Amino acid sequence: MEKKDLIHDGSSIKIWGTDDPDKVIIGFTDDITAFYKIKKAVIKDKGVCCNGVSCITSGILQKAGVPTHFIKKISSTEQLCHKAEVIPMEVIVRNIVAGSLALRLGLEEGLIPQKPIIDLCYKSEALGDPLINDYQALALNIVGEEDLREIYRLTRKVNDTLLPVFKSIGISLVDFKIEFGHLPDGTLAMTDDITPDSARFWDIKTGERLDKDRFRHDKGHVGDAYRTVYERLKSKYDG
Ligand code: 5GP
Repeated sequence: MEKKDLIHDGSSIKIWGTDDPDKVIIGFTDDITAFYKIKKAVIKDKGVCCNGVSCITSGILQKAGVPTHFIKKISSTEQLCHKAEVIPMEVIVRNIVAGSLALRLGLEEGLIPQKPIIDLCYKSEALGDPLINDYQALALNIVGEEDLREIYRLTRKVNDTLLPVFKSIGISLVDFKIEFGHLPDGTLAMTDDITPDSARFWDIKTGERLDKDRFRHDKGHVGDAYRTVYERLKSKYDG
């Protein structure tokens, strides 16, 4: 598959067109940003770790019956994916209270809710990705009722599939953000990645943070944390 024009030049992800108009190449960089790109750094081999974690988790989800944009890993930092019409909505699953939820509701980090919480955010940098509810998602006309129902079903399936996977490698899947969209054949699919950039991973034994919070809160050893998640997943689930 030949790499063509750069379609998206994000800080941690780049997307190129290919000679097939329905397929793209997604590449993961070593750049890391936080707080709307106010904080920036480069973490050696972060791209390799994020692509690795994304490819393994996408493969597991597809086997479990969750449609995703992922086709195959093509290099250590790149994957071939179906091009998608992405719905501008973030779906956040929270198994353990942390981050913005703890701040917003005044809850202690680490609290386990009676059942996983699913939050929706309208993806708009200008508005600061505001929290929305189902009615607001419909009013914004970014998703229809049927797709919204299916997004909730698939989101619960992603969580139910990945919770035991991470548990088996000694990691709590605290929370994660995913997005959905339509593939060229019309399939509603997860068009996003699960990586330490977009999920919180806590070591079950030590409570050590193995994700982007290390960078957000200057805890150091960011690259080591990303590598730990990738190495543990790879040793159990790769090939
Ligand atoms: P929080 O709402 O606590 O900021 O984030 C909840 C979870 O969703 C965290 O795992 C966080 O990394 C992820 N998340 C929230 N917003 C974004 C985003 O805009 N991009 C990415 N990659 N992840 C996000």
